[in-house]
Amino acid sequence: MRMPVAIFTASVLILALGGIARSQASKPVDNGRLTGADRDSGNWLMYGRTYDDHRFSSLKQINEQTIAKLGLIWSRELGTTRGLEATPIVENGVIYTTGSWSIVYALDAKTGDVRWTYDPAVPRTRAFFICCDVVNRGVALYRGKVYVGTLDGRLIALDAQSGTPVWSVLTIDPMRPYAITGYPRIAKGMVIIGNAGAEYGVRGYISAYDAETGKMVWRTHTVPGDPSRGFESKAMERAAKTWSGDWWTVGGGGTVWEGIVYDPSLDLLYFGTGNATAWYRDLRGNPQGDNLYAASILAVHARNGELAWYFQTVPGDNWDYDATQPLLQADLMIAGRQRNVIMQASKNGFFYVLDRKTGEFISGAPFVSGITWATGLDPKTGRPMESSSAYAGLQPIIVSPDPGGAHNWNPMAFNPATGLVYLSAKVGTHAIHAPDPQWKYNSKSENIGFDPRYEGPLNDKLRSLPPPSGELLAWDPVKQRAAWKASYPVVEGGGVLTTAANLVFQGRADGVLAAYRATDGQQLWKFDAGTGIMAPPVTYLVNGIQFVSVMVGWGGADAAFNAPNRGKIKPGYGRILTFALGGTATLTIRAFGHTEPPTPAITMNASPETVHEGKLLYGGKCAQCHGIDVVAGPLPDLRYASKTVHEQFEAIVLGGTRSSLGMPSFKDLLGADQVRAIQAYVLSRASEGANQTSK
Ligand code: CA
Repeated sequence: MRMPVAIFTASVLILALGGIARSQASKPVDNGRLTGADRDSGNWLMYGRTYDDHRFSSLKQINEQTIAKLGLIWSRELGTTRGLEATPIVENGVIYTTGSWSIVYALDAKTGDVRWTYDPAVPRTRAFFICCDVVNRGVALYRGKVYVGTLDGRLIALDAQSGTPVWSVLTIDPMRPYAITGYPRIAKGMVIIGNAGAEYGVRGYISAYDAETGKMVWRTHTVPGDPSRGFESKAMERAAKTWSGDWWTVGGGGTVWEGIVYDPSLDLLYFGTGNATAWYRDLRGNPQGDNLYAASILAVHARNGELAWYFQTVPGDNWDYDATQPLLQADLMIAGRQRNVIMQASKNGFFYVLDRKTGEFISGAPFVSGITWATGLDPKTGRPMESSSAYAGLQPIIVSPDPGGAHNWNPMAFNPATGLVYLSAKVGTHAIHAPDPQWKYNSKSENIGFDPRYEGPLNDKLRSLPPPSGELLAWDPVKQRAAWKASYPVVEGGGVLTTAANLVFQGRADGVLAAYRATDGQQLWKFDAGTGIMAPPVTYLVNGIQFVSVMVGWGGADAAFNAPNRGKIKPGYGRILTFALGGTATLTIRAFGHTEPPTPAITMNASPETVHEGKLLYGGKCAQCHGIDVVAGPLPDLRYASKTVHEQFEAIVLGGTRSSLGMPSFKDLLGADQVRAIQAYVLSRASEGANQTSK
């Protein structure tokens, strides 16, 4: 690929800088390079660039004066229409990243040429046990190997040069609905990995493996197991006192599905845990218990996995307020004292600042308006003061934020120059929580305990609430207040990058990648990537030239549950884009989806009652992937299903004839009459034309 003239010129001017980057790159990525990653501005060596996860780069070629010249250098489609969430890892001009189904790519950063790909051949039937799309958030790079966690629970080490597997270990019980979507974390010769599955019913844990051999070093559970079998630790014994009933029979939950970070100086690993199983405390047996250590931030000693401290953000969680959002470390002057802190903008809407040595609560404040589940936090302990309106036993209630959270997995960034944390915030989301009193654990199904058949007056109330909005939020973690906000026309913003040139980069659901001034939020530049963006951009040098790369691909949980602004959201073909000053490549955006209104492919005589029954069943079993109201993003929009699909409908849904494509059999969950009801509802939606919402 030919480079623009301006880039060659700049290359000559900053040859010295390129020289530094090259000499650093000649050494393998070892502990020294990882702990010194901040000085290695030419590379992006790990998930948050540095161990403190600031996603801050000292590169300044792209700045307020030059950014108008920022343009596309290359783009590469990755053969997917599903969500792309990975942070590209970049070393010595090579990008290591992941796409759908845990596929790993090594690309030439300068040209986008594929050096190698590795497909772990995840059985597509595993999609059944994945709540939120077949995503992966990226790899780790260490001593010549690339590490990836796969959807079916394997941790695989690949040779970084060739992509050839060196070792592979199964980190889960394959009979249980575990999955891995998170990135592996390197800590002193070990690879640390967690997993997902609390929506289905598993027991959460993280594991440490020897990076060289794949041998397990330790495993630490997050919730207690069966007391009759003894506890693994004092921490588990203490935790068990906060549970009742037979929680272990459903697994307990508390999965570590994202956000494992490491402080090499304290030798502590930090991570958040997800919800307990089921979502609703009354369905877990004991409405009073805290259910440790679900919905908590934990610190464990890296050498042995022993618990150092914990901070539970949501005792006795009742709303799916996972505490798995990104954790960011910084040393801040707070009330006249230098504090080593760890921070999280939690799903539950509060921004937490904790002492990362001790877990002491320093401060916490709501970072979005309209939170209804709690009136605030105890100023000494940080324990939430739960609202009386947020819990009514097994009666349905409406709360804010919704289970998608005021902030989710999307990485945030910290700029030491401005002292601000930048994150995508969702404001004013609400959800009905209707616990199903009939719920019983079913090993073949999701086990959140929600009643999708709920049809009470709260539906009307929910519809009457103002729609949510999305914003890039600049948050002052010392003052615990917003410095500025940049609102955008969609609710869902992606991960964030900030630089020493006073810039913040962020993509969003409408496919726009934008750059803002870090001090005041003024938008300085934007690019239409054609497809919705969730992943965070990264920046690095190639031959002394500053590049910006980002994964572009719409999917994830947001793709199914995006009703308020889905007309503006852009599903489409997933790709990776790379920019530099003077870039003039044009992006060809292939048309995706349907432009004409749907029409039913067959006629089916079904009563209104049957259609209604199908609507309720669809909401409980199908919407998670095919979209609420049968309006899909990344997956086939069933309103446009062909005559052939309709003729084979039962064979597909019950017989699993398309399981190799990721559509599993529902034979354990649905009967033939129910499948016909779902089909009738799908056809009724097709007959409603382009209507985005169900009648
Ligand atoms: Ca959850």
